[in-house]
Amino acid sequence: MKKLPLLLKPEVFSNFDAILAVMSTKDLNLNFTDNANPELVKENRKIFLAQIGVSEEQLAIPKQIHSANFCVVNSPGIYESCDALMTNKTGIYLVVSVADCAPVFVFDPVKKAIALIHCGWRGAKEKIVEKTIYGMWDSFGSNPSDMIAYIGACASVCCYEVDFEFEKFFNPRFLRFKRDRKYHFDLKGEIYAQLVNSGVKFWNISVSKHCTICEDKLFHSYRRDGDKSGRMWAVFGLNS
Ligand SMILES: [Zn+2]
Repeated sequence: MKKLPLLLKPEVFSNFDAILAVMSTKDLNLNFTDNANPELVKENRKIFLAQIGVSEEQLAIPKQIHSANFCVVNSPGIYESCDALMTNKTGIYLVVSVADCAPVFVFDPVKKAIALIHCGWRGAKEKIVEKTIYGMWDSFGSNPSDMIAYIGACASVCCYEVDFEFEKFFNPRFLRFKRDRKYHFDLKGEIYAQLVNSGVKFWNISVSKHCTICEDKLFHSYRRDGDKSGRMWAVFGLNS
């Protein structure tokens, strides 16, 4: 029998039957990137969705643009020009596509609402995490102190080299290993800080230990593989 593709499931949500939270790995490329064979991507999506028990008609997919825009989702479909989705509806599964950017999962167990954020350095610079948390309060009455958050596998401080101009955008505590006008950017740290600044309790935040750049067997990485890189999906939904 063929081996099933490896999936990662954040442990923090495993106690909630009503939640599906999952991220795919390098075993599948799930996006129609320039170098991808579209037939293969379609097949990979079928395999992945069958494995998680979700149909294509239940997905809400943003057309990501590295912005700080979010959309409130009331029905499945394509959402233009945004990088975060939120819903309090069951049976709709939010998707973000990643290869080094972080998927950030936020769950409010009181109001039964979720958000899924695509956050790279551009989104982080525009405070997409803080804006999305505010959006959940505004849309669903969510109190950040009730929220449970998970920062998924992404480019991490071990490998994420950036230019000195990042000084203009981020607190120096997230710019590490300074040398020769380069830093390593701590994207997870910046996201964590935005969650805490928004009122999410630090004991309700967990962070993946994985780095997409150096763990080349496990993850697609745009930094590492450039245009040849595939994309992984993070999926977050309230089961009906
Ligand atoms: Zn690394």
